[in-house]
Amino acid sequence: MITKILKADEIDVNSTSINEAAEVLKRGGLVAFPTETVYGLGGDATDPDASKKIYAAKGRPSDNPLIVHIADFSQLKAIASNLPDTAKKLADAFWPGPLTMVVNKNEVVPYETTGGLDTVAVRMPSHPVALALIKKSNVMIAAPSANTSGRPSPTKAEHVAEDLNGKIDIILDGGPVEIGLESTIIDLTEDIPMILRPGYINKQMLESVVGQVRIDPAIVVDSDTTVGAKPKAPGMRYKHYAPKGELTVVKGGQDKVIEVINQLTAEHLADGKRVGIIATSQTKDLYLKGEVLVIGDRDNEESIAHNLYDILRRFDYLGVDYIFSECFDTPSIGQAIMNRLLKAAGQKVIEV
Ligand code: AMP
Ligand code: MG
Repeated sequence: MITKILKADEIDVNSTSINEAAEVLKRGGLVAFPTETVYGLGGDATDPDASKKIYAAKGRPSDNPLIVHIADFSQLKAIASNLPDTAKKLADAFWPGPLTMVVNKNEVVPYETTGGLDTVAVRMPSHPVALALIKKSNVMIAAPSANTSGRPSPTKAEHVAEDLNGKIDIILDGGPVEIGLESTIIDLTEDIPMILRPGYINKQMLESVVGQVRIDPAIVVDSDTTVGAKPKAPGMRYKHYAPKGELTVVKGGQDKVIEVINQLTAEHLADGKRVGIIATSQTKDLYLKGEVLVIGDRDNEESIAHNLYDILRRFDYLGVDYIFSECFDTPSIGQAIMNRLLKAAGQKVIEV
């Protein structure tokens, strides 16, 4: 298959790229498109064959369900059963935006889309190209991240092309995405709404709308219950976001972290290995050797989220054997950043 890459910085619902992509979706094909979180790989959520094609293109395990993207609240009602009042409240507060809600599904959504579950994950993205595509095609779009399963999520059209060229019909290139981390997932089928995956919309923001919210204990770092617990979102159980080099997070006071990273880097270089370092604008000049890449600025935590996946891919091109990273556990988006970074590191942390 030849994959067409079409510019879609135009947000007009009638742009030719969006028209062409909408036609592909209507006839059961696959289109990668930008959202505000990461690029998604979309197909018709109500078409079991389209969903199967998504799993095949990504090499994704078939028990890992897809998120359904909609452009109007009425579409949520059309695919949910026993929709709780909290869904409307959260939609009013955060949709369109980076929040995915898990609700009970009805027969409109096939099990191929939900990985066999009786629940469905639904999100209304705010990216104008995503919204225009859903509206133009009038298709509810099942879309996981548009990467090969296990690789960092794509935050640029080039990342999508690297992983999926030749495997899907169209890539809509809307430039780099804004947030750079996947949506927050909240499960509304529990008595108390539960965060299954942290993201830009954090616990406090959700609690300000629906009262008490829990976090799936299996995804809380340092929690005693984490060991052996099974995350409720199937995707959180898989090793994810893995760069090719072995990534270790170094945690502690800044001076000590830099000292230890410099020392470990020197040791690996002496063994003839290549080493990458994830630094910030504040620390980049303090590393003495190795491939030092700046992830962002500590005074702007959004910049760190925005660049994380791109940095992990860049270390792959550089062919480093080891990667060391500072810690980014800032109060608001830090939990989401650390969740992804620690998964990429296979939870390898050195405390100094
Ligand atoms: P991705 O779009 O690649 O970020 O993956 C979607 C994420 O949503 C995965 O972690 C899935 O396991 C999760 N997810 C999708 N549907 C459900 C559901 N019905 N219940 C729980 N988690 C879900
Ligand atoms: Mg993904």
